[in-house]
Amino acid sequence: MPQRNMDPQRCPMPSQPPEVRSKNFSEVALGYTAEMAVAEARRCLSCKNRPCVSGCPVGIDIPAFVAKIAAEDFEGAYQVLAASSSLPAVCGRVCPQENQCEGRCVRGIKGESVGIGRLERFAADWHRQHVSASPALPAKNGHKVAVIGAGPSGLTAAGDLAKRGYQVTVFEALHLAGGVLVYGIPEFRLPKAIVQQEIDGLKALGVEIRTNMVIGKVLTIDELLDEYGYAAVYIASGAGLPRFMNIPGESLKGVYSANEYLTRVNLMKAYQPGSATPIQKSRSVAVVGGGNVAMDAARSAKRLGAETVYIVYRRGMSELPARKEEVEHAQEEGVVFRLLANPVRVLGNENGCVTGLECVEMELGEPDQSGRRRPVEKAGSNFVLEVDTMIMSIGTSPNPLLRTTTPGLEADRRGCIVTDGAAGRTSREGVFAGGDAVTGAATVILAMGAGKEAAAAIDAYIQGKSK
Ligand code: FAD
Ligand code: SF4
Ligand code: SF4
Repeated sequence: MPQRNMDPQRCPMPSQPPEVRSKNFSEVALGYTAEMAVAEARRCLSCKNRPCVSGCPVGIDIPAFVAKIAAEDFEGAYQVLAASSSLPAVCGRVCPQENQCEGRCVRGIKGESVGIGRLERFAADWHRQHVSASPALPAKNGHKVAVIGAGPSGLTAAGDLAKRGYQVTVFEALHLAGGVLVYGIPEFRLPKAIVQQEIDGLKALGVEIRTNMVIGKVLTIDELLDEYGYAAVYIASGAGLPRFMNIPGESLKGVYSANEYLTRVNLMKAYQPGSATPIQKSRSVAVVGGGNVAMDAARSAKRLGAETVYIVYRRGMSELPARKEEVEHAQEEGVVFRLLANPVRVLGNENGCVTGLECVEMELGEPDQSGRRRPVEKAGSNFVLEVDTMIMSIGTSPNPLLRTTTPGLEADRRGCIVTDGAAGRTSREGVFAGGDAVTGAATVILAMGAGKEAAAAIDAYIQGKSK
């Protein structure tokens, strides 16, 4: 039994210094060395009641994988992770661990919790760098399943179904697979090579990925089921439709949705000279919103050379929905937080270009239905931020295309597809759904968990029908 490390502080994560990283798109956090990982893993108390596991939406056996790292069995640690998660290198980087597994860790009571996410990332990276065995190809069972959307939910379902012997085709609207992992979350938080490797792993399992296929336009769900011989369809089309505030001036040149801005940066490489979809060169940028997406947009704008980048958010610091680590990173990189402020009008010049953002100061009143204190305008407190670019990051909802082209597919008033809970069955027979398309914008791990549950439900449905 390795000796326990009772240091109340976790082993710090090596990172690029703020003044260096704010000028490049390389990954900010550099990852633990083997020595650091072993020292951190030895902080785990191997609690019998495993509180951390109850905080993980896919129930990873955390004490077991951490114990393997403590014993320097890194591949063994990866195998424990792989039993419950198909994207550990991704989740180790982007899961909101502080509210999930790490939020329940007993070491957090009198010090810092065990760095579970950092250890997960370490084991997954170690496996990727050291093990290249190709997976055993499962025997085909003769049934075809279509997956719509190649984000974490669709990819997870595809992998699980392929392992059960199904012939799986993933239809993806964009020219690259990965969903938000490639077009939303920037390279400096999640290197795209990692996502690509996961996708290559699925292809090695026999999953076919067809890009540039917008289902609802090129083919409908009914055609997939009735004419193309798919026994079931899994909808994992995400929630990529941006919301705007409907304030005056939102159609001016220089106003972007965060999704468009980040897609131009991440997917179309707009920062490279000669890119087919360029991006405006900004001097001063206001990003409206306080979630992870807003932090990603603000930090990307900084890296693209903007001198001043504001986060404009109508509540206070403690209400910011973004991960604490992302907020700290943004602050270190020089992003300015204009909290308790709400935009009322985008100002423009005679050429139709943004010149400023008029805001009003807010104060927090009584709690609203969500339990958070409601922001209330302070009369007469208007002020103007001089900016040439505004990025709206106040949320997204599912695109209506699939529900409007699939008769009988029920959706709620937010446009989210209605399912019967964990199994992901929709109102249409043979059609399942999960991830952000069902929950609205949520997290990678929840989308993956839904993909896993739907794969099991689809298997049960098809096997039940073929008896
Ligand atoms: P998506 O990842 O959205 O994938 C859906 C895919 O379906 C897309 O590729 C889309 O092109 C495709 N599609 C849509 N319609 C069709 C159609 N009709 N036909 C074919 N294909 C279609 N979560 C975290 O846990 N941690 C984070 O740090 C984090 N940061 C984020 C940062 C940003 C900028 C964004 C936008 C989101 C972030 N999230 C984060 C949320 C997380 O990425 C999502 O919850 C998750 O990706 C949802 O997975 P999904 O598979 O349901 O959908
Ligand atoms: Fe924690 Fe996310 Fe890993 Fe689960 S998947 S153990 S919540 S980091
Ligand atoms: Fe280890 Fe913390 Fe989980 Fe206990 S709660 S087993 S200390 S990770």
